[in-house]
Amino acid sequence: MAKSAEIKLAVFGRAGVGKSALVVRFLTKRFIWEYDPTLESTYRHQAVIDDESVTMEILDTAGQEEMLQREGHMRWGDGFVIVYDITDRGSFEEVLPLKSLLEEAKKPKQLTMMLVGNKADLEHARQVSTEEGERLAAELSCGFYECSACTGEGSVSEAFLELCREVRRRRMVQ
Ligand code: GDP
Ligand code: MG
Repeated sequence: MAKSAEIKLAVFGRAGVGKSALVVRFLTKRFIWEYDPTLESTYRHQAVIDDESVTMEILDTAGQEEMLQREGHMRWGDGFVIVYDITDRGSFEEVLPLKSLLEEAKKPKQLTMMLVGNKADLEHARQVSTEEGERLAAELSCGFYECSACTGEGSVSEAFLELCREVRRRRMVQ
């Protein structure tokens, strides 16, 4: 069998948007209410995507790192998940500056990212409409998923798998 491709993904976004919950939902299909918000973790995960074996390394960032360390994380990743919380407009407003930082760190390579609006189960507290999310993703030329790490609705897995596919596609054309 061909050697498994390695794909490194890093998850960014304001503290509390549900980065850790999303990563754990993707890896275990379960939801755990509380994580240490200052904890940064890396996970290895084997998957078969479209008949191809992939080894994913997923970095769940904590947002506490020094500037230099953060830049290192940004250079490390092949693909990025930027998460905001649909009930926290401020977290949505942080997406654009975060994307600029990522772009700067990846230069001259093109940035491969996925935008995820989390906490879709909290419809009553929504501050960012689905259309706004879609519009921002179009502006950033990236994929977009609205989902809930809590209920699993909106397919959390697809967001990660689709990002892997995009990383793979871009590797092939390089
Ligand atoms: P992080 O700081 O971005 O890693 O965020 P966490 O994963 O630690 O989640 C922050 C808080 O939001 C925790 O209390 C989680 O239980 C909660 N949370 C995360 N995802 C969801 C979700 O999809 N729905 C709801 N209702 N709460 C969530
Ligand atoms: Mg966390």
